[in-house]
Amino acid sequence: MTDSLNVAVIGAGTSGLLTARELIREHHRVTVFEKSNKLGGTWLYEPRVESDDDVLHLDPNRSVVHSSLYSSLRTNLPRPLMGFSDYSLDDKSYGDPRTFPGHEEVLKLLQDFANEFRVTEVIRFNSEVVRVDSSDGGFVVEWKTMEVGSTEEVFDAVVVCNGHHTEPQVADDVPGIEEWSRKQVHSHNYRIPEPYRDQVVVVIGNGPSALDISQEIATVAKEVHLSSRSTNVKVTMLDGYKNMWQHSKINRVYDDGRVVFQDGYSIEANVILHCTGYKFHFPFLKMNNIVRADDNRVGPLYKHVFPPLLAPRLAFVGLTYNQGVLFRMFELQSKWVALVLSGKLLLPSEDEMLADVYKHYQEMEENGIPKWHTHSLAFKSEYVDWLAAQVGLEIEDRLKEIFGKLFAYYVSHPNPNGFRDLFQMLLMEKELELEKESVRKRNPIPYAVWLAGNGIGINSKVCLVRWKWNWNACKIPKLPFFFATVCNQTQIRSKWEDHLNEFLFRTVGNMGVQETGDDETKGAKNKFRRLDSELTDYGDDDLEVVQYNHTQQEKSKKARKYVFACAVFASLNNVLLGYDVGVMSGAIIFIQEDLKITELQEEILIGSLSVISILGSLAGGRISDAVGRKWSMGLAAIIFQIGAAIMTFAPTFQFLMVGRLLAGVGIGFGVMIAPVYIAEISPTISRGSFTSFPEIFINLGILLGYVSNYVFSGLSSHINWRIMLAVGILPSIFIAFAIFIIPESPRWLVMQNRVDEARSVLLKTNEIDSEAEERLSEILVSAGANTGDTAVWQELLTPTPPVRRMLLTGIGIQCFQQITGIDATVYYSPAILKTAGLQDKSNLLAATVAVGISKTAFIMVAILVIDKVGRKPLLFVSTIGMTFCLCGLAICLALFNKTAIGVGFVILLVCGNVAFFSIGIGPICGVLTSEIFPLRLRAQAFSLGAVGNRVCSGIVAMSFLSVSHAISMAGTFTIFTMISGLSVIFVYMFVPETKGKSLEQIESLFGNEHNWVEDEIELSDTQRLVPNQEKLAFIQ
Ligand SMILES: Cc1cc2nc3c(=O)[nH]c(=O)nc-3n(C[C@H](O)[C@H](O)[C@H](O)COP(=O)(O)OP(=O)(O)OC[C@H]3O[C@@H](n4cnc5c(N)ncnc54)[C@H](O)[C@@H]3O)c2cc1C
Repeated sequence: MTDSLNVAVIGAGTSGLLTARELIREHHRVTVFEKSNKLGGTWLYEPRVESDDDVLHLDPNRSVVHSSLYSSLRTNLPRPLMGFSDYSLDDKSYGDPRTFPGHEEVLKLLQDFANEFRVTEVIRFNSEVVRVDSSDGGFVVEWKTMEVGSTEEVFDAVVVCNGHHTEPQVADDVPGIEEWSRKQVHSHNYRIPEPYRDQVVVVIGNGPSALDISQEIATVAKEVHLSSRSTNVKVTMLDGYKNMWQHSKINRVYDDGRVVFQDGYSIEANVILHCTGYKFHFPFLKMNNIVRADDNRVGPLYKHVFPPLLAPRLAFVGLTYNQGVLFRMFELQSKWVALVLSGKLLLPSEDEMLADVYKHYQEMEENGIPKWHTHSLAFKSEYVDWLAAQVGLEIEDRLKEIFGKLFAYYVSHPNPNGFRDLFQMLLMEKELELEKESVRKRNPIPYAVWLAGNGIGINSKVCLVRWKWNWNACKIPKLPFFFATVCNQTQIRSKWEDHLNEFLFRTVGNMGVQETGDDETKGAKNKFRRLDSELTDYGDDDLEVVQYNHTQQEKSKKARKYVFACAVFASLNNVLLGYDVGVMSGAIIFIQEDLKITELQEEILIGSLSVISILGSLAGGRISDAVGRKWSMGLAAIIFQIGAAIMTFAPTFQFLMVGRLLAGVGIGFGVMIAPVYIAEISPTISRGSFTSFPEIFINLGILLGYVSNYVFSGLSSHINWRIMLAVGILPSIFIAFAIFIIPESPRWLVMQNRVDEARSVLLKTNEIDSEAEERLSEILVSAGANTGDTAVWQELLTPTPPVRRMLLTGIGIQCFQQITGIDATVYYSPAILKTAGLQDKSNLLAATVAVGISKTAFIMVAILVIDKVGRKPLLFVSTIGMTFCLCGLAICLALFNKTAIGVGFVILLVCGNVAFFSIGIGPICGVLTSEIFPLRLRAQAFSLGAVGNRVCSGIVAMSFLSVSHAISMAGTFTIFTMISGLSVIFVYMFVPETKGKSLEQIESLFGNEHNWVEDEIELSDTQRLVPNQEKLAFIQ
């Protein structure tokens, strides 16, 4: 064993304090040099900043501020990860109950630690080390103090712990930056947002500080523009913000303040804020030939600690980063240094150490990892285990699990606060599990008693957090919901826990490199850009994707195709509805001739479908909850087929009506369930597009109906309408086939406690496994509130304010979709065109086909843009456009009746009306209604909306001809114009933006009256949105 050594430690931050403790434990004589007057290093918040004039920090004599903390900073790692093996924030209570405490708590922990282990006694404050040079068998350390000036002393060994978050790295490669005349700041000098009030700020960077700071600045700034170094980023407005955009790299900046991004956007900015990381900096080391910092590679260093040529007398602690257990890793490094200096542990030979270092460099090169990331452990997660094995300690599995979970949630959870709260909830789940496990192990009988007695108490704790998370900021009392959740929790508890456990272990296995896919994939998934390294990479540099994950890309493609196929199959029922609507508009002419029915019978025959389909829609919610979404769709198809068959062979009006009623029930049933199924199966990002499939298929059906009218109209009127109706049976054959292929809705499976099956469906439908798990936990959380059918109806009939708001939006939009008269133009377009002056039957039917084509074509436009520009802007375009067209129709029918120009305008305006309908309110109505209700209410609430929709459709279809006779067709369209005007106001006042939000986030949006109105994208914002879904993380 070596004698006690005289060791100098440079720095009294986390690493220095740990190193001093370990050296003291090994009975070395320790001196800690600390240039500041207090300990804590990074965690010693300093409101003072360095001069902004010297943004490049070129002046070596400037007054350096060590800490880069900003005032509002909360830790990025939860309490259990913020501590040492025997001293952790987890066990301390300093008054901040949050799992991710503010920086003040970490400082207190370090101060208490230093006092308890008597490290404070060996610190020389206000002593800045200015030179370390090797001398015979040791090192000369020169330090200076204000009072005494420079002093030298010889030490046997030196451990460098001076931190690496002080010397800013700026984006000096931005073309034109040297001519930029306006303000530039580095995040090192950021403390509070106030100086950025009303400014246009460009933030360069993509690490935690960039995201955190830009988010904070956005609360006061006029605009914040984030610029990422990664390629393929297109300009995007960030979710939840009206003044923050994500851009690609900066192309050039100009002295007049212009900043041009590679995405083509140009803005005029007041400030450029560099959140571009820090450089390793050892100005005092005079052994450049032995160890030096080059492009942030400090080396050569054996295992990031010992320079082989001077080991073990010179060592570095705290260089490594990108690890979930940073503090523990520093502890292991310091222990290793102390044990090696004591001779209790031996290092390999100098050559072996050097070989190891160069092997590491070579591996980095082979994997395309830039030199800059030499000390990043994102690609070397086994390093900590190796260190732990050296010193005979181990990092508890629990901590690894926590980091695994944290990482999974960090990557997949878009909202920073949501991420922290959700994580807090999961920690409590874990606590619960541990508590339960310990009681179970002690004795099975007390365990049973515990389950029965204390279970509810513990669950209450968990539910409370869930409740807070889900119903964030909701001011109404939610005690009933809370208790319902508690009671329900006890039922599904054990299954939920099993799956949670499984999830934990799966994510722990993923602690190494985990990529969220290529840029396009991330964009398409509406994901915040999070790279695995970002969680603990306080360097904030804009890490490029260095590994291209081909497998992930393949999986993404597969998942998208799979959901697409499911959405298509599920929407087939809607072809039936559309076909029936379309075909009846022409077939009725021939039915009238063949069966000699009256105009009233004609109205009843047409309109009854809408009314009777209400029955189907009402029953649909309940039946689909009982037998599942997909089997309900099958049942709907069978009922329709029977109805269609009866209509085809109907000898009289009465038979025709029976068939029509049955078909109506089937259709009502089918159209209610398809959007619910699709919304439940689709990933968040593409839910809007997929959920509008049913509307496309209705339109396709209408078009097919019109085409069928046209094609078969030449046959005898005894047979042609029967063939037209019979053709409608064909799609239901496909439905029968589809039922055996498509999976059941994962949300319904969870409601049935079939969580494993739900997981395997989610794994197929989501592009990233962690996202599938995330969805599963969200569903599990919201399924926890499932209170049974009677309770659901009770909740809908005596709604709480959030549910009332949802019902108002959901039922309102459903009613407006129909009451603005779309079915009048669809069912009765031949009659409208006839009134306008078009008499020839085949011309009439051909013009009707044009109506069908414009309806279908524009729905395609809607589907392409719905998830990009959002629901609300499209609704505005749609309702305003329809109002103009309806007004035009009223004017034309009143003033230019029976003229060629009048006919032309009427055809144009009817086509325009259906086009505007199809681009917005048509498809979005179903999308919104299926999105806004919580899982427990979704099916029944949707069926209520569908009832409203069908009633309005029935009223329009059954009264259009009579009302037109009474007040003229022009008068009828004047009424539609006024109603359509009201729909614009309704959209403005009662429809929130739901784009890009998970179903569970939308649920919480309605929880707060303020959010409900505020969380919208204003129409003007749409001008700034481009077709790209890239979203970046704002997370600390
Ligand atoms: C914005 C930000 C947020 C962070 N958040 C987290 C988090 O949530 N969780 C986490 O685990 N980590 C976080 N970190 C990382 C954090 O820096 C490390 O966890 C850790 O505190 C680093 O400790 P250190 O001792 O190595 O360096 P430092 O804390 O920087 O300490 C270095 C010490 O050396 C002294 N010193 C420097 N040069 C000399 C000299 N020449 N002579 C004498 N003394 C000198 C300094 O004054 C200082 O006291 C964050 C970092 C930043 C910048």
